[in-house]
Order: sequence, then C-alpha cells, then structure tokens
Amino acid sequence: MSALYSWSRFGMRTAAAAAGVAGRPTKLIFVVTKRCHSRCVYCDIWKVKDTPGGLDNELTLDEVRAVAAANPFLQWIDFTGGEPTDRPDFVEVVQAFAQACPDLLVVHFPTNGIATKRIEEAVRQLQATIRAQLVVTVSIDGPPELNDRLRGIRNDFAHAVDTFASLRRVLGPGQVFVGMTLHGHKGSCGQTTSELVEATFAAVNDALRTRQESPLDWGEFHLNIPHLSQHYYGNAAKSETDGFGGEEHRREIAAALRLAAGKPKSGGAPVMRAVERIYRAEAMKYLATGKTSITCSALLSTAYLSEKGEVYPCTIWDQPLGNVRNSGFALMPIIEAARRDGIRQAVIDQRCPNCWTPCEAYPAIGASPARALLALAQGG
Ligand code: SF4
Ligand code: SF4
Repeated sequence: MSALYSWSRFGMRTAAAAAGVAGRPTKLIFVVTKRCHSRCVYCDIWKVKDTPGGLDNELTLDEVRAVAAANPFLQWIDFTGGEPTDRPDFVEVVQAFAQACPDLLVVHFPTNGIATKRIEEAVRQLQATIRAQLVVTVSIDGPPELNDRLRGIRNDFAHAVDTFASLRRVLGPGQVFVGMTLHGHKGSCGQTTSELVEATFAAVNDALRTRQESPLDWGEFHLNIPHLSQHYYGNAAKSETDGFGGEEHRREIAAALRLAAGKPKSGGAPVMRAVERIYRAEAMKYLATGKTSITCSALLSTAYLSEKGEVYPCTIWDQPLGNVRNSGFALMPIIEAARRDGIRQAVIDQRCPNCWTPCEAYPAIGASPARALLALAQGG
C-alpha cells in the first residue's frame, strides 16, 4: 500500500470513530515485556523480573506473529514495556506487525536509554526493514543527580543523553524525543516542577554540547502527567512520597506545562503542534477538575494488550477484558464483547479512572474534532 493510501484510510477511520462508528481500533498499545533494568521509584514494573514467575507466560514470538496476523487493521502501535529492547526478539516482534499490517503508519516505543548501542542497533534494523514511521521517546526525569536517583541507575542521565543523540543521528530530527514525567519529587535544592523542567532542559543541552551534538529544541522535549495503574505500572499503592502529590503538585504541573508551551519551538508539522496545544489545554482542565471535555477513545479506536496476551481498555484502567490466547489471537471478539457489556459506555460516561495520558489522549483528540477545536479556542 502507498503511504498516501494508508494515511487516507487512517483519516477515514478516525472520522468514522469521531462519528461514533464503533469499528476496529487503529491504535494498539502492546506491552512487549515487563523486563526492565531501571529501578524507578514511581513504577514497579522493574520488580516483575525479580518476582518468582513474574516473566513467565509472556507471549512467544510465534504467538506475537499470530496476534499480528489476526489484527492486520492496526495502523499505529506503541510497543512499550518495561524496556521494550530488553526483549531479545524485540526487532522481530515489531517486524511481525510491520509485515502483517499493510497500512501500519506509526511505530513508537519508549526507552530508558540505558543500553545505547543495543537500542541504536535495534533502531537501525527497524529503519532498514519497516516502512512505518519510527518514533522513539527517551525517558529523562530530571537533571543528572535527580534523574539518576529517581531512576535508580548510576549515570542513567548520561546514558539517556547518549541514546537520544545517537537515535537522532540515525532517524533524524522530529522522530526522537526526550520524555520527562512530572513527578512531585524535589531536587536537592527543592526546586519547583517548573524550575526542574528548565534545569532538565538546560542539563540535556549542556550534555549535548559537550558531545558536540546539535542543541535540544523545546519541540523535542515532552512533558507527561504521572499516573497510577495497577495492571500496568503496578504502582496503585504509591503515595505522595512517591511523587504523586495532591493539589499543590497539580498546580505545579500546570505551571510547568504553561512554561513549556511558551518556549520557542522549531520544526514539526502544524497539525502536530495543534494536537499538542489541545493536549495541553485539556491537561489544564484535567489538573484543575479531574475531568476533560474530550471523550477517551479506549475501545473505540484504541486498545491495550499485555505481555501475557490480556486485553484491557487502556494502560490505566485495571479492567481485564479477555485474553487473545482464547480468541484465536484476535482483538475484535474481546473488544466487541466489552462493548456489549457496557465497558465502552463506562468510558464515555467517565466511570473509568478517567485519566489524561498522552498514549490515549492523542487518538482521543483525533476522534473528537469538534471538542478538540473548542478546547483550542478556549485556551490552547
Ligand atoms: S518507568 Fe519505565 S524505565 Fe522506569 S521501571 Fe517503569 S518501565 Fe522501567
Ligand atoms: S480515560 Fe483513561 S482510564 Fe479511562 S478508559 Fe481512557 S485511558 Fe483508560
């Protein structure tokens, strides 16, 4: 299929979702493994590998190929983890979907950036073998001292910057991002979240300069709201001391998002800039009220698949729907049953935990164009 044909199909399917037509999802979030060598204080995924049986029963490569073959309609896949590249056959996993999904347009994966050479090699292999646009987000959660403390790895910041720089060289600008999650942990000087954002951006830039790399653009620096999720992060029991603060933390996050919004950015497609402005406008609403005006598209145009084959509405809602091992590896029987059981209606009625994660927010914006434009007009 030509890219133009695939994009037009994506546009038509998104328009159909916006009109409320419950078709097949365009986007899948697939946890390829829970292996991870970071030791982040706000996420317990890394403990899974140390739990007896924790890594047992992950979908094998043959099963992943069966999932891909049974769901050829996917056009956008987030291959997440754990650390996705800690799965030894990660490249083959992505290639399986690229081969089985003729209209696959976007492949994104986040990385902790620890194993620079291995991650770069995986990206080079994928770049050479898949047609879909490859996008990578490297996690950095603060200036060096705070980042390394929060992520529990000595020199984590330096490794992550090396990875960011090497992937940007391989893939080119606009396809590699730094992702900073705005947890409520303070640096050694007790800075506000906004001050930490400034300090992190400056520290990444300093590190790039010493590596004689081109500077970081604010458009390459994404800020995320932290979330709790038992079935995914295993962090539902985390508290304010783990960085999930109350009122004051939410105000600080809102101030940091405003700060980043006011920074000059170069490059980037106008449509993506508009989507980011809508994301931010709704994030402000969410931080102030706990609600957004854009309806989440979970089980309409998105779904979540765990490393053990379990389907959930999303990364956040701990609502198991079924296992693809019992549905011939097809997602649709499970999604359709969930729709019949009122799970999609619960999402519409905001009876789910009601979050605003970028994984779900970006497709939701596409599927709610009228509300998205209103949000833009009201304060994007
Ligand atoms: S946040 Fe990411 S890098 Fe950190 S422990 Fe969880 S999966 Fe690993
Ligand atoms: S709003 Fe959040 S918790 Fe609710 S279904 Fe969507 S992604 Fe999941």
